Amino acid sequence: MEPNILSTDSKTLTEKDLQNEESSITTKTIDENDKQNRSESYIKTEGWFRTEPKWFNIANISFFHLCFVYACFTFNFFENLMTTAWIYGMIIIAGFGVTGGVHRFWTHQSYKAKWQLRTILATCYAAAGMNDIFEWVRDHRVHHKYTDTNADPHNSNRGFFFSHVGWLMMKKHPDVIRKGCEIDMSDVLADPIAVFSIKYSPILKFIFAFLLPVMLPVYAWNETWSRAFVSQIFIRYILVLNFTWSVNSVAHIWGSKPYDEHLNATENLFVNCATVGEGSHNYHHVFPWDYKASEFHDFVTTNIIKFFSKIGWAYDLKEASEKLIKTVAINRGDGSHSLWKAVPYPASKIE
Ligand SMILES: [Zn+2]
Ligand SMILES: [Zn+2]
Repeated sequence: MEPNILSTDSKTLTEKDLQNEESSITTKTIDENDKQNRSESYIKTEGWFRTEPKWFNIANISFFHLCFVYACFTFNFFENLMTTAWIYGMIIIAGFGVTGGVHRFWTHQSYKAKWQLRTILATCYAAAGMNDIFEWVRDHRVHHKYTDTNADPHNSNRGFFFSHVGWLMMKKHPDVIRKGCEIDMSDVLADPIAVFSIKYSPILKFIFAFLLPVMLPVYAWNETWSRAFVSQIFIRYILVLNFTWSVNSVAHIWGSKPYDEHLNATENLFVNCATVGEGSHNYHHVFPWDYKASEFHDFVTTNIIKFFSKIGWAYDLKEASEKLIKTVAINRGDGSHSLWKAVPYPASKIE
């Protein structure tokens, strides 16, 4: 791969873009895109490191997963189909909060949202029962800036288990903490809805991830308390966690790399289905500022954002132009792109 070829192509491309494309389509060069996405000055990566285990997290995560396995084998999913549908409904609600909210909106600012939508995003995110918005955004910004290095909280070079859940069971690598402190979080702290959500995270999590999802089946369709509890806490909650974690593990290990073969991040259809549209992870790492997080797969989250854009609650939706995607795929992809295959220089130059 020749970096100078890339920059020449991308300059030509940008001039054309500026002349021809609508202003709503974001125009960037590959070089600009790289500078914005990743840190070139830090490339340290090593294997295992010594650190202290977080025993509470180990016990907590293990207990919930044992209950999940037991519940999957003993819970009768056909006894009341409303209860089973509600598991799926909550996966969509929580999934939208994670993907459309804390990920594409607060972390990547890939679109802007009015207070009404930000309130919905914060509520849906609370339903996922994860860390508060500040921690999630900081960890994910570090992940993008220092992907698969020592400073990446879930460095996938340490294997599936570490990148999936192991990283939550131990104290972070010193470089993760050091680089995490340098991340600019001023935009999140300037958003009163995000600040409220961070301040009251434990109570919001209790209400929207556990209390209301369990109460609804009991009062709306006479489900028993035990079945409502097991289906929502031991099954749905653990599924949402694992679906989200699969982006860091599965989508950094298995799949194709049509946009940049030098990244660990991949395109993975399973992850795409499990996470309501976050499985185009190779695309996402190359264009993290694109609100669709994918070139072709407009899944649940993207369509919901499009709906809110139609009623004016979401606006300034950022997208990568087709020409920029084409240039990147041809020059850096692994040849698996359905339209544009990598060809050797000099044929790869875009006229
Ligand atoms: Zn990633
Ligand atoms: Zn991201």
